[in-house]
Amino acid sequence: MNKLFNLKTATIVLVTATLFSCNTNSNSTKKNSENPFEAQVDSILNLMTIEEKLGQLNLPSSGDITTGASESSNVAKNIEEGKVGGLFNIKTVEKIREVQKIAVEKSRLGIPLIFGMDVIHGYKTTFPIPLGLSASWDMEMIEKTARVAATEASADGINWTFSPMVDISRDARWGRVSEGSGEDTYYGSQVARAMVRGYQQNDLTANNTLLSCVKHFALYGASEAGRDYNTVDMSRIRMYNEYLPPYKAAIDEGVGSVMASFNEVDGVPATGNKWLLTDLLRDDWGFDGFVVTDYTGIEEMVYHGVGDLQQVSAQSLKAGSDMDMVAEGFLNTLKQSLEEGKVSINDIDTAVKRILTAKYQLGLFDDPYKYCDINRAKTEIFTQENRDFARTVGAESMVLLKNENQTLPIKKSSTIALIGPLANTSVNMAGTWSVATDQEKSKTVLDGLKSVVADKANILYAKGSNVDYDLELEKRATMFGKDIPRDGRSDKQLLDEALAIAKKADVIVATLGETAEFSGESSSRTNLEIPQAQKDLLNALLKTGKPVVLVLFTGRPLVLVEENETVPAILNVWFPGSEAGLSIADVLFGDVNPSGKLTATFPRNVGQIPIFYNHKNTGRPLGNKEGKFEKFKSNYIDVRNEPLYPFGYGLSYTTFEYNNLKMNNSTITMDGKINITVDVTNTGNYDGKEVIQLYIRDVVGSVTRPVKELKGFKKAFIKKGETQTVSFDISIEDLKFYNYDLDFVAEPGDFEIFVGTNSDASLKTSFKLTK
Ligand code: BGC
Repeated sequence: MNKLFNLKTATIVLVTATLFSCNTNSNSTKKNSENPFEAQVDSILNLMTIEEKLGQLNLPSSGDITTGASESSNVAKNIEEGKVGGLFNIKTVEKIREVQKIAVEKSRLGIPLIFGMDVIHGYKTTFPIPLGLSASWDMEMIEKTARVAATEASADGINWTFSPMVDISRDARWGRVSEGSGEDTYYGSQVARAMVRGYQQNDLTANNTLLSCVKHFALYGASEAGRDYNTVDMSRIRMYNEYLPPYKAAIDEGVGSVMASFNEVDGVPATGNKWLLTDLLRDDWGFDGFVVTDYTGIEEMVYHGVGDLQQVSAQSLKAGSDMDMVAEGFLNTLKQSLEEGKVSINDIDTAVKRILTAKYQLGLFDDPYKYCDINRAKTEIFTQENRDFARTVGAESMVLLKNENQTLPIKKSSTIALIGPLANTSVNMAGTWSVATDQEKSKTVLDGLKSVVADKANILYAKGSNVDYDLELEKRATMFGKDIPRDGRSDKQLLDEALAIAKKADVIVATLGETAEFSGESSSRTNLEIPQAQKDLLNALLKTGKPVVLVLFTGRPLVLVEENETVPAILNVWFPGSEAGLSIADVLFGDVNPSGKLTATFPRNVGQIPIFYNHKNTGRPLGNKEGKFEKFKSNYIDVRNEPLYPFGYGLSYTTFEYNNLKMNNSTITMDGKINITVDVTNTGNYDGKEVIQLYIRDVVGSVTRPVKELKGFKKAFIKKGETQTVSFDISIEDLKFYNYDLDFVAEPGDFEIFVGTNSDASLKTSFKLTK
């Protein structure tokens, strides 16, 4: 008998059970929930051969499947043989429908595939790179970007995204800082939650949500020396207090899957680390979704030096990995390991059940083509509405680093010399990890400026320089179709052309910095300056004596000491996304007042790294606030301790003043709360948004505590001249930390509170926690 029929029968028999449980589908990724699909899943499991079970655990990349030809591809053959559980890197309804059809109609059991993709910061409509997005400090907006991404991706056939990436990082050399939300644990946890909500909407049964995958579990952002894939070594107390909470926040929000990281944790690769993937993740945190390895993560354990492919595959499964991305270690070795008693059938079944459950949660057994609606594909992707939203988000993420003499905003009636290798490139606007973006369609800065003020301003353009003198470096930083064709003219010819237009201008907009692939995976740097060719161009432009605005593109904190000295205005635009040019024009001309704040510290030099605001005090802290050198204190002889721009920093076209920091009580009990208010006045000439930040210091602890930690923030729109009273509630949960025994506790004693415009906040008050 046709087994597809059997499978369907099994499903029909269980339909009554499903009817009673379908309303709980939306909660099925919540902690410790009952699995409403258990009976269905078991009935399928009973029909499966060992080969088919291992097939469900296998996640290959789709390769270059083309519509119409997929049936003859190698992947298709494997799907037909039941050797594939899901595919990633494939998009469009046509292709996905075609491939799904093979799984459903040609494989023995007809189990549908799950389709994954790196939908990282938008889909076709692309938002700023995650580090930029995080600088908006606007959780509703961040959630909405994930919502829009989910709508577009699911309209194109996809049902699973490898996002959010929540790795805390304090090392700007690491190229993947661009993919996360910066250095702060509390802030990163809020973003993690917002992203999961946006993707999953607590309802995976809908056809416009995506199963989310939090990554990279765990500690990937602490790679030694900022070199990608490098070793991580960290105390448990640091892990628990500083690096693990954002992953846990995603799990508490109901994320459906977790991706193991490439690095080792406590000497054991994360992909095969039972403490991490089972004891902590499942037993302590109650995660009940599935774990996927990162790309070839299992095979890489061989290079880590912990065994051959058979050994590491068995170790990984037993540790708690359920799905093997690309390595095919599960597919090709687990049967032998089963026969040799190295894994049990229960180990395999557990993983298979988790994958099948996710497919049930997504509704793929009811309708394998649920995400393959061609009408949705035609009407819901890259819509004008989504693009308008991306334009807003792009502007909200920008951080004004300097604005001497109110150089910005620029008058719309000026003559503007737009100069730099990043001024007229569409392919570099979306930034790294934008696999679904139509790069050519992104708005360049030149387009953006012209379309916003062409009727009033006179915009002159010159490239000015190549990306860098070093051709090899330039190539590496403009990969994946993001090249900026090397100009055949000499450096002098390029510069002369730029100087000629600069002469005619009222203001120079120098569009410089990193190209898109300077950051991202495997793009670590040891030199964090703007590439030399562009620095030389900038210096030549400054010499003209004309006002210069530096529009800075970057995927990471850069070293900008020189620019901060010499350039009157610096606007950090990150990579703003598909509407980049428009977002930039909106801010340059003052239609939008910038309000972004850094979520990662900008160092003075590479030697200061790792650098972050919530460090410990040490036994020999500096005694002065001016950063003067003190012998036998914890500082450097060649650079001061403070960064150039601290965490939380960002200017506005207006100014804000903070007054009247008040507390409703000077003591708090273990079950109590404290209310803190502060008056914030817009003292400048523009309406504007301000991110009001609250930091707490636990003065005495049973273990050493950071000098301060962010524990609250509010983004408020304040009209010029207006004063708003902003209020924060602090509860006992905000005072808790993991102590030496890794218990999550609040300890009685003194606490200090700092409120202000960035992590250097100086308005201060204090309270006592009593038993
Ligand atoms: C990256 C992941 C990504 C995966 C699939 C890996 O190289 O580390 O972040 O999700 O590839 O594309």
